[in-house]
Amino acid sequence: MAFVITSPCKGEQAGECVDVCPVDCIEKGEDQFYIDPEVCIDCGACVSVCPVDAIVEEYEMTPEQEPYLEKAEKFFGHM
Ligand code: SF4
Repeated sequence: MAFVITSPCKGEQAGECVDVCPVDCIEKGEDQFYIDPEVCIDCGACVSVCPVDAIVEEYEMTPEQEPYLEKAEKFFGHM
C-alpha cells in the first residue's frame, strides 16, 4: 500500500511533502513530485501538508487517478 501524488501537483509542486516524509521517499520529477510506492510506509504525514490536496491513498484513487501510481512506479524504475 502507498500514497500517490496526483494531478493537482502539476503546476503547484510546492514540495512541503518532501520535508515531512519520515522515510525520504518523495522526489521531484519533471512536472510533479512522486512517492516511491515501495518505500512509502503509509504514515499519511504528507497528505495534510499538501496545499492542493494532491496526495491520495492507493486504494482510494478514482479511475482518473490510477495512472499516477503507474507513473510513480516507472519514475522509480519499478516497472
Ligand atoms: Fe512519506 Fe508517509 Fe507520505 Fe508515504 S505517507 S510518502 S511515508 S510522508
